[in-house]
Amino acid sequence: MALVKKNEVHTIDITGMTHEGQGVGRIDNFTVFVDGPIEGEKVEIKIIKVNKSYAVGKLLKVLEPSGDRTEPFCPSYKRCGGCSLQHMNYEAGLKFKTNLVRENIRRIGGLEDVVVHDAIGMEQPLNYRNKAQYPVGRYKDEVRAGFYAKKSHEIIDCLTCGIQNSVSDRVRAIVREFIMENGVTTYDEIKGEGLVRHIMTRVGFKSGEVMVVLVINGRSIPGQEKLADKLVGDIPQIKSIVLNVNRKKTNVILGDENIVVYGRDTITDYIGEFKFNISPLSFFQVNPIQTEVLYRKALEYAQLTGEETVFDLYCGIGTISLFLSKKAKMVYGVEVVEAAVNDAKENARVNGVENAEFIVGEAEEVIPQMYSRGVRADVVVVDPPRKGCDEAVLKTLVDMEPRRIVYVSCNPATLARDLKYLAEGGFEVREVQPVDMFPWTAHVETVVLMCASSKAGKC
Ligand code: SAH
Repeated sequence: MALVKKNEVHTIDITGMTHEGQGVGRIDNFTVFVDGPIEGEKVEIKIIKVNKSYAVGKLLKVLEPSGDRTEPFCPSYKRCGGCSLQHMNYEAGLKFKTNLVRENIRRIGGLEDVVVHDAIGMEQPLNYRNKAQYPVGRYKDEVRAGFYAKKSHEIIDCLTCGIQNSVSDRVRAIVREFIMENGVTTYDEIKGEGLVRHIMTRVGFKSGEVMVVLVINGRSIPGQEKLADKLVGDIPQIKSIVLNVNRKKTNVILGDENIVVYGRDTITDYIGEFKFNISPLSFFQVNPIQTEVLYRKALEYAQLTGEETVFDLYCGIGTISLFLSKKAKMVYGVEVVEAAVNDAKENARVNGVENAEFIVGEAEEVIPQMYSRGVRADVVVVDPPRKGCDEAVLKTLVDMEPRRIVYVSCNPATLARDLKYLAEGGFEVREVQPVDMFPWTAHVETVVLMCASSKAGKC
């Protein structure tokens, strides 16, 4: 039985952090989670929820602040669901991410002696996102376009967002004003009625090109030509304005159909030397600067000489495959989304890459089949979604024994689980490098080099 009761006020020491950046403390050995404190702080909290095995507290006062504590730069930080580490300085956030990876690898992976390098941060960890998605809604007489509040679908009307590109802020403001002045309806999630659902922007960091996507529950916006003129007049970098039709009652932001109202149906951008055409629906990494850092690390770990056959599993639109192709004999990319594979093929063609082949299918189906047909890889790169690799993929890798595996992960917990499996199957973890792709949020990306123990001399 919990001795802790709702509405009680307690003073506690924060002795740890969750993977989401919440502080963790104890009251008589009973765990309490609190939004806002930093490890090492003494805080006063009020209990707002008690469960069987833990309680949730609200931060009332920081009694002994950590040296890492800092004033959040965003006025909406407390309410907005976007960032969760703005109350500590950037270095402390990086340390938090490095520790998260270390702890997972030790605890879940059972790997004690692995070297985990310090997370690679950004020199300028602001305005790093190339894609913004602002939900739009009406609150009495006010139109809001911004971000969802923490754990809710209430829209906060952020005037500027420190992690977005400033062009996105301007697009948001122009569209919002147009909606208000012209009485355009906005989508009501509960009723499933109203027109404008989301404003999405995509910005090519190297090309400077901008795409504006207006997601609507319909096929046109009254006065859309006037809106297009206003947008392009104010922001000449806009090369494409698209209406995306989404008439479904769903949380999924984009629908399938796009109607171009101005300019082209894609914009162009570059990662490293490679050019990519980006359409409203295509996946593209949201932090292009750190993506390059991450891919260069993956390429370094792959140690290619030009003789290797390489698998790039979970390849998306083939970005990593293209990076690898210049230094490999042959690259096979595997990806389950057919549209992404079509983009990957097109990206290879646009960049004159002829030694990359892309296969549609689930990695856990495709890889065992390729293995049984006798196809072997010298180096395998995997970059799975948050749930990590399917066991059938890991088992095939253990059987195939590529010389090196480069594991790119967006979830330290499933990464650690998969490393354990591969370590037990005869691979040695050589290096672990976290990379900060999403400053001020608790997300961390990691790239790991593993070598087949039996081929250690050649790794
Ligand atoms: N490597 C890419 C994309 C990584 S995101 C890049 O860096 O841009 C993970 C990708 O895995 C997504 O494109 C997703 O569609 C794909 N995916 C998810 N489950 C899969 C499966 N079972 N088999 C193959 N691909 C899968």
